[in-house]
Amino acid sequence: MNILLVEDNPINQLLTQRLIEKRGDTLVVAKSGREALAILENRQFDLILMDIQMPEMSGIEVTAAIREKEEGTGRHIPIIATTASAIKGDKDRWLEAGMDAYLAKPIDKDTLFETMDMLNCSSQALKNGVPTARPINRVFDMAMALESLDGDFDLLREIIGISLAQFSKHMQNIQDGISKEDSKLLERAAHALKGAAANLLASGVMQAASQLEEMGRTGSLTGSKEALRSLEEEMEKLQLSLGKFEKEFAQPR
Ligand code: MN
Repeated sequence: MNILLVEDNPINQLLTQRLIEKRGDTLVVAKSGREALAILENRQFDLILMDIQMPEMSGIEVTAAIREKEEGTGRHIPIIATTASAIKGDKDRWLEAGMDAYLAKPIDKDTLFETMDMLNCSSQALKNGVPTARPINRVFDMAMALESLDGDFDLLREIIGISLAQFSKHMQNIQDGISKEDSKLLERAAHALKGAAANLLASGVMQAASQLEEMGRTGSLTGSKEALRSLEEEMEKLQLSLGKFEKEFAQPR
């Protein structure tokens, strides 16, 4: 199968790439909605995995543009929405926008493959993606993270390395966003941080980042300093825990 992944987060790109390659399918990555539309001008795919939250052009807008192009051609490429934050009512909005199914991030391998197979063998659009259950109130659940990666220890180590490098950049941008009252910057940085934390199933950081993302989105920064403080606390716990993991497992044996 030829798959197009539309995803702005580099860790999610890497994760999905590994999952897809294991199955033997080919994957092309578009880092933005615009890039995806440009690629689709010249190439055909069997399936699109579409991130919902992206800067500039959301997954919903990209999907709408794709469906508009398909009108009258009789074609309908299956599109699976992927998101770290599904709330009630979202699913209907996405299906209305022309998506065929949705998956919760971090993407569960079995759920992804099942959904892909179902979409592939039925010409009719699938109307029920299955969100994966996620643990709550955990700093970093290594066992769960490993399980979601199919026990791929090297990949987990790689992801933790990339995550640690990204965390400080995102935190800096979040702090700048708040001190310069740049709500767009705050929203973008908090979203990126939330995505990075989601891959480690670090729900404490995810929740704190999500709160700041929402403040940035609505442009109301009241209470953002307090929210930043609780994010910093969660981040400290996470980094401590990841640092321990790195010390124990990072050295090649
Ligand atoms: Mn995104």
